[in-house]
Amino acid sequence: MSSLMWYIYDFARKAWASAFTDAKTNPEIAEKPERFRDFPKVNKEFCIGCGACTVSCPSPHAIKIVREMDDESGEGSTYPIINPSSCIRCGFCAEVCPTDPKTLECGLNHLILPEFNLIPSKRQFIVDDYLCIKCKKCLKNCPVDAIGQEDGKIVVDQLKCIYCSDCLDVCPVNGAMKRVFVDNLQDQKELILLCVNYLEDFINSKEDDLRSLEHNGLLQYDVSISEIMDDALKIIPDREVSFEIMSNTVNRLKIRVIDWDKSKCEKCQLCIPDCPTSCISFDDDKDTIVRDKSRCLRCSICYQTCPFSVIKYFMAKFACDDENIHIIVKASNLNEDIVE
Ligand code: SF4
Ligand code: SF4
Repeated sequence: MSSLMWYIYDFARKAWASAFTDAKTNPEIAEKPERFRDFPKVNKEFCIGCGACTVSCPSPHAIKIVREMDDESGEGSTYPIINPSSCIRCGFCAEVCPTDPKTLECGLNHLILPEFNLIPSKRQFIVDDYLCIKCKKCLKNCPVDAIGQEDGKIVVDQLKCIYCSDCLDVCPVNGAMKRVFVDNLQDQKELILLCVNYLEDFINSKEDDLRSLEHNGLLQYDVSISEIMDDALKIIPDREVSFEIMSNTVNRLKIRVIDWDKSKCEKCQLCIPDCPTSCISFDDDKDTIVRDKSRCLRCSICYQTCPFSVIKYFMAKFACDDENIHIIVKASNLNEDIVE
């Protein structure tokens, strides 16, 4: 055997060389290390369309939000789609997504720590009596005796529970012990949307400040939590839970704010066909351009299309303490945000 052939033969015999070829032909046998970050998986049913993921993404064409057509069964849903050839798997989108469960998941991404979960201290464990086989393993393993039996059913005493998850770990039936956040996930989505819409409306109400803001200038505002709390309590009546959802949402939220200065509009209508949700139209009777804000995804395509600087766009970040939401708004342009 020539020495070259011998080297190739020896190379192919190495354990890691065969592991590599096996993994290539049979990907399911490849073990992913703990730090491995997958492409984000999209759970579209949880999306509230806040747009925070598109704002956080550092890759220009990796993520966009789409909106399905409305039909007779109701409003089309809004959710992100990921372009795998542009996504760099940084996981920023999953990190900022305020919903819980997350709309975007990045596998065992070391950046997505449990504390990013929305309301960790308010997890509740409940037993699904339909699936429970009454083996009582949870009851025996609970370190604080929070689980007992009532009328033949296994029940968790929520006041004693310390949310350790031991019951979930020992339960032999998938789904019999459930970990839930609040009774109604839809309520949680509604509350998050309430915060996002309130904050966007608040910033939009500062129209004069926004329009006079210098390029790359900053605006700072404080909003009292009590301003939102009354409406929040109508959705989730528990003040502590509502506050926790609100503060966790607000602390990781970034939103793009679109401002339309109609006084500058020359009615060229170039923005109308470019809007991906058809939320811009021309009202012939009133001879003016109209934007349906409820359908706007804050994608800022109109900002890029408009030749007359009618549309400006701003980035807003938030931080929450016990009493106030602190807001910082930055005048910006899209290209700078892409490289930020
Ligand atoms: S993982 Fe990073 S690059 Fe990929 S879509 Fe999410 S934010 Fe964009
Ligand atoms: S960040 Fe907002 S728009 Fe993006 S996936 Fe999460 S909820 Fe949907």
